[in-house]
Amino acid sequence: MDRTKTRRVQIGRVPVGGGAPIAVQSMTTTDTRDPDATVAQILALEAAGVEIARVAVPDRTAAAALPAIKARIHVPLVADIHFDYRLALAALEGGVDKLRLNPGNIGSEDRVRTVAREAKARGVPIRVGANVGSLSKEMLRKYGDPCAAALVDSALDEIRILEDLDFHDIVVSVKASDVEMALDAYTSISEQMPYPLHVGITEAGTTWAGTVKSAVGLGAILSRGIGDTIRISLATDPVEEVKAGFEVLKALGLRMRGPILVACPSCGRADVDIVALAQEVERRLAAYTVPVKVAVMGCAVNGPGEARVADLGVACGRGMGLIFKRGRIVASLPEAELLEGLMKEVEVVVREKQAEAVDSAVLAPAGRPAVRSAPGQHGTRAAGHHVIESGGGGNAES
Ligand code: SF4
Repeated sequence: MDRTKTRRVQIGRVPVGGGAPIAVQSMTTTDTRDPDATVAQILALEAAGVEIARVAVPDRTAAAALPAIKARIHVPLVADIHFDYRLALAALEGGVDKLRLNPGNIGSEDRVRTVAREAKARGVPIRVGANVGSLSKEMLRKYGDPCAAALVDSALDEIRILEDLDFHDIVVSVKASDVEMALDAYTSISEQMPYPLHVGITEAGTTWAGTVKSAVGLGAILSRGIGDTIRISLATDPVEEVKAGFEVLKALGLRMRGPILVACPSCGRADVDIVALAQEVERRLAAYTVPVKVAVMGCAVNGPGEARVADLGVACGRGMGLIFKRGRIVASLPEAELLEGLMKEVEVVVREKQAEAVDSAVLAPAGRPAVRSAPGQHGTRAAGHHVIESGGGGNAES
């Protein structure tokens, strides 16, 4: 997929824009004034693969907690600030890697200039943007109702304020809860400015409905090549946001983190309990971060075909199943042994892929892609998970 070329910014050690891998981010739901709870949630997000974590900074106590949080996590930390420029300055002092604020709502030009100067001195980007729920009265007067044009107009206003101060480390968002409005807004703004886009369907809803809505919205936007970092907004444990984010990117072939499970829905032809088997395989695969494709299929109609094109597959028959490894049948097992037999082969393939990743890194000549530790790998990540990062802004990873 051709991606719109944007200016690259650096959020801590995570590059965003300019062809860098689309970063998955989330936001904590804990009280930021409680560092222990906030750190615990960010570590859980890291274990799920989050690459950037945002926290709300509503007051000075929350701002004062930022250094203690930052010291105990492994992914870049973003401070979400509204109205009070002093909180932005405190967050910068506290070592955050990015600010999310709108210059238009933190007061006088002097105050905005001070924040921009301090952010620039530290190499800290600022995300600006509009959200359909917080359009200004002026914009609502101008456009009547919230609409894509109002979102874009608002975001461009915020961008101009920073550009006028010679600040260009900008990330932009134009979020709506309406999919069509969000698609129009992101498409329009991506044609009008060079900065990387943080994409999301805001206030998408609860786990099930919100995930579907986000997948539809982000799928439409990302498939146009638009978007440099994503956040799925769900009214649930934010770990679910991270899992959903990676599934969206995997479905579009934009990122490859963790296994891909192909499972048939079962039907009257299946002779084994394929739904139970697929669910248990999915649960066990969640332990892996290596991209391995596994197919769990119910019968001979589509089973052998899907199983053959996966890294591993099981195609079931009457009370039994064939296990395929990269297109070759490696075992024929009774139903009771299928799960363990398949997972044993998964373990082998995962180890092979990890060894391949290390080999390709060792063999890469100077200037070629090199293997680095994935963001968030320290401490909570499974050993052996690597991301292939090309210095020129490639999007490949393993
Ligand atoms: Fe039914 Fe077989 Fe298709 Fe599964 S693979 S849905 S069991 S026909």
